[in-house]
Amino acid sequence: MNTRVVRAACPHDCPDTCAMLVTVTDRVATEIRGDPDHPNTAGVLCTKVSRYLERTYHPDRILHPLKRIGPKGSGQFSRISWDEALDTIADRLKALAGRDSRSILPYSYAGTMGAVQGESMAMRFFNRLGASRLDRTICSSAGGTAMRYTLGAKMGTDTEQFEHSKLILIWGGNPIASNLHFWMRAQQARRQGAVLVAIDPYRSLTAEKCQHHVAPLPGTDAALALGLMHVLIRDELLDRDYIDHYTLGFDLLAERVADWTPQRTGDTCGIPAAQVEWLARLYGETAMRGEPVAIRVNYGLQRVRGGGMAVRNVACLPALVGAWRHPAGGVLLSSGDSFPKRSEWLERPDLYRPDPARPPRTINMSTIGDDLLRTASDDFGPAIEAVIVYNANPVAVAPESAKVARGFLREDLFTVVLEHFHTDTVDHADIVLPATMQLEHWDVHSTYGHQYIVANNPAITPMGEAKSNAEIFRRLAQRMGFDEPCFNDSDEAIAAQAFEPGHRHTRNYDWAEAKETGWYKLDVPAAVFARGGFPTPSGKCEFYSERMLRDGLDPLPSYLPPYESVASAPDLAKDYPLAMISPPQRNFLNTTFVNVQSLRDTEGEPHLELHVDDAAERGISDGDMIRAFNARGEMIARARVTDRPRKGLVVALSIWWKKLAPDGRNANELTNQRLTDMGRAPTFYDVLVQVEKLPSA
Ligand code: SF4
Repeated sequence: MNTRVVRAACPHDCPDTCAMLVTVTDRVATEIRGDPDHPNTAGVLCTKVSRYLERTYHPDRILHPLKRIGPKGSGQFSRISWDEALDTIADRLKALAGRDSRSILPYSYAGTMGAVQGESMAMRFFNRLGASRLDRTICSSAGGTAMRYTLGAKMGTDTEQFEHSKLILIWGGNPIASNLHFWMRAQQARRQGAVLVAIDPYRSLTAEKCQHHVAPLPGTDAALALGLMHVLIRDELLDRDYIDHYTLGFDLLAERVADWTPQRTGDTCGIPAAQVEWLARLYGETAMRGEPVAIRVNYGLQRVRGGGMAVRNVACLPALVGAWRHPAGGVLLSSGDSFPKRSEWLERPDLYRPDPARPPRTINMSTIGDDLLRTASDDFGPAIEAVIVYNANPVAVAPESAKVARGFLREDLFTVVLEHFHTDTVDHADIVLPATMQLEHWDVHSTYGHQYIVANNPAITPMGEAKSNAEIFRRLAQRMGFDEPCFNDSDEAIAAQAFEPGHRHTRNYDWAEAKETGWYKLDVPAAVFARGGFPTPSGKCEFYSERMLRDGLDPLPSYLPPYESVASAPDLAKDYPLAMISPPQRNFLNTTFVNVQSLRDTEGEPHLELHVDDAAERGISDGDMIRAFNARGEMIARARVTDRPRKGLVVALSIWWKKLAPDGRNANELTNQRLTDMGRAPTFYDVLVQVEKLPSA
């Protein structure tokens, strides 16, 4: 027997980007585990990726190119050759490009986070083609924009340092489900005496295990942070020296938060005023004792109208109390900007040469439902006539799903999907191309949760006729006659050059070494903002942001109520009085893994979880089949009646494949396409619904 161990990286949309070890025996992957020597992974993979071999060798994998033979949306296909598939696509794209290449739209996100199989060769192809640009907003752009305005970059506390914190606010996230290795650090901190506070309208698995839980109404986190700042300033729980040297706009901030008394904050957030006082004093007094206080803010709180401002307000807190002085203090949303990725080289935007008569057009991926249904106009430009989907599953994931599905059902729309499985989106394709999985291709990963570049070596040869995304776009480029040398770069050559050589964070980085050892830790100081050095225009933490003013935003921390809530939309709330959020199921990662039987068996079936009082008011018992609905749509699921959601809240743990749900729908039937205050992101958690019991069968 020939056995070897291959170093790999978890490719999924998760901040942990684990380093993995894959055992291969006689060319078959037989075991996958977390690398015990990687400081963040520490030998642990989550339940989902522990089943990665089940996913890799899944009998339902798409292994050959396919073309549609049934009606749109029917998922009926027959096998074709690669030549036929690529010729069909190239012929169609050439014809469309001849009229107006903006009628072609790429649609992709984080199905893989790799620099190679993500947006390298694919973007070179679409830039050269002159396709519409895609505004990739569906997850993190509201919070990311807020961080850049406030701190200058998406960077912050090193995850490895959290175990030394004495107080950790876990704000708007459920790390047990979606940031496991941070949670391991938080637990270590707790064993060393730290206090953990979860801030979440839902008592998630994580909130259950923290000493304290604060449950503000969805969409009110910005107000809570304003109230905390009010108390810190009122009670002089401040690091004046840090504020004087390393922040901008403190006096204006103090004026702004003067009205945000604990009473007003509590009323806005639906929590007791005393809880606001308590939390602010806990945070401020711990910091004033010289102990490190840290915030792990996550993406939950930014999926509402004022989501960007919510993250911005939270990001102001550490500078007030001087938390950045400690390696284990500060705030972390994302470490993404710490990585000197060569995006310009990877994606080659210089290949885009727009026709002066046809200005570039950008489509927001979060409004794909509306945009697929739009006709040509002077404002919009040409109707979208072709969509190439890779690393994404918009029919299940994009908001206001009924419209998205209607768009993809258009007979005149040409849809190509690169995929592993017959997802809801694949069912709407004209041509399906079999893509490789992580064990079958080269890649290299930055991450948004720690500070390591992680290399991915191919462990096995591709199954069936699967090809890597980069290879597929390379071949399509040949078919289109694109002869720029960059279309000849191999996957490994792209991986080798994905990061800027000589950057201060990657001074000693070397691909040849990284692929052997598995990873490389960035050279980032432990307390990155201990002496300021914020990459903002002022070099300071900007409580006041001139850039925000120029961008038409409030330059100071503020509160923007949700589009849909009992307080902000009372008329709507008469018909739809319950707020709904749809955070991740522990065993799914967006829609990835829903078709892995062992994981789906653990989750059972789609549920809607509601508070005991809300259930009682509607005559609903645990286990009843119920219907959640609003003017946009409906979904049916089994009721879970608990006291985990705060009263007035429905929780639809997600994201189910629609076709694997009993009614063929998921929570995105109910979500809306309105966008956040900054970052043009979707507002998945800014939703009102009504719930009713279904008659027994
Ligand atoms: S999904 Fe996250 S926690 Fe799970 S293996 Fe991948 S990176 Fe690690």
